[in-house]
Amino acid sequence: MHYVTELIAVGTELLLGNIANTDAQMLSEGLSALGIDVYYHTVVGDNPQRLKEALEIARKRANIIITTGGLGPTYDDLTKQTICAEFGKELEFHEDIWQEIQDYFLKRMKGKAITENNKQQAMLPVGCTVFDNPVGTAPGCGFEVDGVHVLMLPGPPYECRYMFEHKAVPYLQDLTHEKIFSHEIRIFGMGESQVEAILHDVMVESTNPTLAPYAKTGECMLRATAKAHTRQEAEAMLQPMIEKVKGILGNVIYGVDVSSLEEAVLDLLKEQGKTLSAAESCTGGLIAKRITDLPGSSAVFKGGVVSYTNEVKERVLGVPHGLLEEYGAVSEPVAKAMAEGCRRLCGSDIAVSVTGVAGPDSDERGNPVGLAFIGLATEKGTVCKQVDLTRGRSRGMRRHIAGHHAFDMVRHALLGMEI
Ligand code: ATP
Repeated sequence: MHYVTELIAVGTELLLGNIANTDAQMLSEGLSALGIDVYYHTVVGDNPQRLKEALEIARKRANIIITTGGLGPTYDDLTKQTICAEFGKELEFHEDIWQEIQDYFLKRMKGKAITENNKQQAMLPVGCTVFDNPVGTAPGCGFEVDGVHVLMLPGPPYECRYMFEHKAVPYLQDLTHEKIFSHEIRIFGMGESQVEAILHDVMVESTNPTLAPYAKTGECMLRATAKAHTRQEAEAMLQPMIEKVKGILGNVIYGVDVSSLEEAVLDLLKEQGKTLSAAESCTGGLIAKRITDLPGSSAVFKGGVVSYTNEVKERVLGVPHGLLEEYGAVSEPVAKAMAEGCRRLCGSDIAVSVTGVAGPDSDERGNPVGLAFIGLATEKGTVCKQVDLTRGRSRGMRRHIAGHHAFDMVRHALLGMEI
């Protein structure tokens, strides 16, 4: 059975642009990870007639309809009644759900009396699968009429995600009778559109497993997903797919099922028994933060220097005054001297340095926003890479991408790859 999904978000505030439809984004990502096709996104206001019209259209072109929002006790929360009218379902009262709603109120809304209209939330379609809601009050549900499955989820993003992951996913997996297994292939150094162009044929040809690209901040990811009865069966499909992608993309792939570049670097440092330190100018300590966010980093990360001013570059890291005078802080010679000074100071095997123009304005020497130099010092010598951070649209993003480059350079050095 091929399942086609339509998401219907209910909420006038979405149409007015007061909030973004983040539930739809989360659900689409989750459904594609399950291997379920999402063909349509619809948004309707809190208006029963227009919701009815949207449902009439949706049930003709999709066999899974997932609605978000409009389940609460307020007068405009009409999703449930309208859906039940459209699909010919009666609503029935669930005493146990009413009890849970009252308990939730007692615990969370101390001092507030529960109003009678909350009782309406315990009314659910006859014969449905109830999705109880331990993180909020409005329960959701799922039912089937004439081959169309309708799932109702609450609007608040946290509740929506919780209910999707804990209730809707098992419901959907029961439909497909197959389990979904996936691996994430993480890429740095090649944009999503380029990855898509290179792998276009592989993606189009592959139906099980599937391969889908996702953009992340300054990097991208491919998710290989297989539907199978067992993990073993899935891996027999997924591993050849991963090897094929590795063969095509080469070493822009920094890991499979790792959460970040820093995690890939941390694993390599541990494996090789090496240590790292960082001299940071425009990243202002971000590299140190990112690696020390990971448990186990104390074994490999010695420390760092936030050398934001020339004075600290000179006095703490020992960058020669003449270099700063002649080339300026954002330059290859200074990046190299920062890395060497940091390696000496911290006694690490590897030191990485970053100096660049994070913006919004160019620096006093007229260097453009986004220009950065990453230095790397090891026992074999010192190298430097000039990078362009202009893909980052804000100061924060440019700093983040500078950190990506720094970690990627360390990864290259650890793997003995050319920088
Ligand atoms: P409640 O019990 O809080 O009334 P509900 O299921 O009735 O929940 P709504 O009243 O439609 O949901 O929305 C509650 C809040 O959830 C909205 O004000 C909005 O902040 C957020 N929200 C609703 N729909 C979405 C959506 N599609 N994406 C992101 N946020 C949403």
